[in-house]
Amino acid sequence: MDMKIENASLNNGSTNSLKDAWADHSRQFDKYHWVYPVISRRAGGISLGINLNIDTICNFDCVYCQVDRTVAPPQPTHNDVEKIAEELSHALAHWRHNKFQDAPRFQNIDPSFLELKDFCFSGDGEPTSAPEFAEMVDLLVQIKNQENLNYLKIVVITNATLLHRPAVQKALATMAANRGEIWAKLDAGTEEYFQRINRSRYKLDHIETNIINAAQQFPLRIQSMWCAYRNEVPSPAEIEAYAQRVLRIEAAAHQAGHKLLEIQLYSVVRRTTEAEVQALDQEFLLNIKEALMQFGIKTSVEIY
Ligand code: SF4
Repeated sequence: MDMKIENASLNNGSTNSLKDAWADHSRQFDKYHWVYPVISRRAGGISLGINLNIDTICNFDCVYCQVDRTVAPPQPTHNDVEKIAEELSHALAHWRHNKFQDAPRFQNIDPSFLELKDFCFSGDGEPTSAPEFAEMVDLLVQIKNQENLNYLKIVVITNATLLHRPAVQKALATMAANRGEIWAKLDAGTEEYFQRINRSRYKLDHIETNIINAAQQFPLRIQSMWCAYRNEVPSPAEIEAYAQRVLRIEAAAHQAGHKLLEIQLYSVVRRTTEAEVQALDQEFLLNIKEALMQFGIKTSVEIY
């Protein structure tokens, strides 16, 4: 669906505006601290982001991260669920009023791209690390019911490090019962490459185990960012090790009677905090897709 929207955009006059809007995932919108609407190719419309990590702390330190942690985070630096609820309510009223068309980032965009598709936990750190994550999921379910927006998805974009925590599991179960999806990051096949790119005290095996357990219970997409770093592209051995991990996740989900929703491959589109990160071209991503298919992956693989 997302690819169709991308192709459709090539035929209308607002292509450049749309491309700019896709690239603009700034978390600053209006006077909000936590809530930010973006046009998401992957969501196929507007995704209402919720940043639960306004302190900008993360348990990964990805070389391609766009969060500048060399500067002090803006105030406030702690979550206030009541204030987040106010921002959400204000943002929804704004969207109902004119689909954000008066906001600079959405000007000249065809209204067909301004439909609201999801609420998405995605911020300046790992969303599930926020103590308020479960409470926020409950709040979104309540808002969906009150505002007659039950068709909206609730997405959490996660590095999967904390999916095993009981409080997070409970929140994921609530999400799953309310059109929820997990978009789990898997950027590597070997521990060495994982530490080079994602730089975390967690091990890649832990990430795989958590993704497997989640995929056996909940709707889940794998998101994989591939980039060149310090003039080195991912090696064929790295991609093979990655494909083996995806294969294990797919098989385990299948064994539990579940199906992976999608594998998303993408590269850098925005400014990264590490200067030595470069985007990979479509051909490179197509080769990774090809490798996944040669390993027998049945899940749909999409390049964004
Ligand atoms: S997991 Fe996300 S927020 Fe954390 S360092 Fe990586 S890209 Fe940045």
